[in-house]
Amino acid sequence: MIGYTKHFNAIVVGVGGMGSAACYQLARRGQRVLGLERFDIPHDLGSSHGYTRIIRLAYYEHPSYVMLLKRAYELWDDMERRSGKKLLYKTGSIDAGPADSWVFKGSLRSCVEHDLPHEVLTGIELTERFPGYRLPQDLMAVYQPDGGFLLPEKATVAFVQAAQGLGAEIHGREQVLGWEPQGDGVRVVTDRAEYSADSLVVTAGSWEASLLPFLNGLAVPERQVLAWLQPEKPEYFTPERFPVFNALVEEGRYYGFPVFGVPGFKFGRYHHFEEQGRPEFLNREATRVDEEMLREFAARYFPDGAGPVMTLKACMFTNSPDKHFIIDLHPEYPQVSFAAGFSGHGYKFASVIGEIMADLSERRESRHDIRLFGLGRLTGQVSALYAQDYGAPRRPRSAIQAPPLFGARQRSGARRHSRALPQSRPGQVARLQHSGPPKASRHDQARFGGERGHRIRQDWQYVEDTTDPLYWERDSIKPFWF
Ligand SMILES: Cc1cc2nc3c(=O)[nH]c(=O)nc-3n(C[C@H](O)[C@H](O)[C@H](O)COP(=O)(O)OP(=O)(O)OC[C@H]3O[C@@H](n4cnc5c(N)ncnc54)[C@H](O)[C@@H]3O)c2cc1C
Repeated sequence: MIGYTKHFNAIVVGVGGMGSAACYQLARRGQRVLGLERFDIPHDLGSSHGYTRIIRLAYYEHPSYVMLLKRAYELWDDMERRSGKKLLYKTGSIDAGPADSWVFKGSLRSCVEHDLPHEVLTGIELTERFPGYRLPQDLMAVYQPDGGFLLPEKATVAFVQAAQGLGAEIHGREQVLGWEPQGDGVRVVTDRAEYSADSLVVTAGSWEASLLPFLNGLAVPERQVLAWLQPEKPEYFTPERFPVFNALVEEGRYYGFPVFGVPGFKFGRYHHFEEQGRPEFLNREATRVDEEMLREFAARYFPDGAGPVMTLKACMFTNSPDKHFIIDLHPEYPQVSFAAGFSGHGYKFASVIGEIMADLSERRESRHDIRLFGLGRLTGQVSALYAQDYGAPRRPRSAIQAPPLFGARQRSGARRHSRALPQSRPGQVARLQHSGPPKASRHDQARFGGERGHRIRQDWQYVEDTTDPLYWERDSIKPFWF
């Protein structure tokens, strides 16, 4: 290890929402972990700030997410117990839209397929029950009582402290400039030092493509703005009386929260003004134009919540082409795993993404069904995670040729750390005809027409506490719902 400052089992690049959870999960397994964060811990320049994030089980994006969410809830609960901090507040969740919309139908589909307690409400019933809401009368809504919100900054701190308590080293204000494979492991170069590790976990959010160039155009940063307006009737906007929401209306798709942390009703519009680009070129300040667009929505659909501005904040989504996450092993270097493209709906999963990344880093496979998120669906590149599924032999890692140092040094042409490396492109990778996301097992079509009658069931409960790593030893690492 001549010339290297230190050697670790795993280095995690980016200690934000996902990276902090990955550091904790790796440290929990006894791994020697280094977490590297270019800004402060926590900070408000990435994607995991703004005091609250929605968590919901009724997942209109795809029912496949529901099993991961159940595990995420368990792990949030686990972190609350370990840290002694309250991180998750249950308010119930509303997913509203026209009766034939993907938001309403998709949410209902997830509830039906996964037997989640839920109710279907019309716009009128929604207002009767939760008077802060004034959505159109003919809109249909799914109410799911397990929904609520998480506290991202507090959770990042909780994960980092728990990881540190287990021996992890976490460095703020240390930017990773590049990495390269080094035998079966990696070498990582930062603006302060060099390190080596057995594996590398890249959870760099909107900066992911700067370290993994094959994600250029696949994990695209997008500017978002959040508004907090003072409610004129604050009693309608308390966590007890105001469920978090996703609502598809004429103006677009919006999401919102009760008053918490800031004295204002918080909401935002998905894909705001559709401003995409590299993080350094996106305006990180919120403007009067942002406010006006958001205020119009509140004035129409939440009129008692549309008072003076309390806070405006800019943030970044990182969008994948199909808005599903991209989580995989590097197609050439399985000692490198990555999680990207969370497309504005990833935070609620952070606790379980930490577990998935620890699996990938430690074992190069995961107990969770993450096929929906494979890189291959977008590029045709099959990582070692899927090579056997598609008949391609796993390439012995020793046979892999080293590429140039990936990262800023490569882009800027400053190659002083890659002097001994061959210039050839990485070898050809196997290609697959991806079969798409896992198919739904049951789908009660008859219930998707917005009809009534889905009354709330008894409280949904976890069958077993699966947070103990030993639990997973029993049946190897099969997806836990098999
Ligand atoms: C306005 C807004 C509202 C949202 N609402 C919700 C919601 O209600 N519910 C939900 O589930 N999701 C929501 N999301 C999405 C969710 O917040 C993100 O999916 C999630 O926070 C992404 O986490 P991350 O770890 O990928 O990114 P981040 O938390 O940004 O972490 C990436 C980290 O990597 C660091 N980094 C990057 N490059 C380097 C480098 N070279 N060296 C060292 N460090 C580096 C960055 O500084 C950063 O800290 C929302 C997002 C936004 C922007």
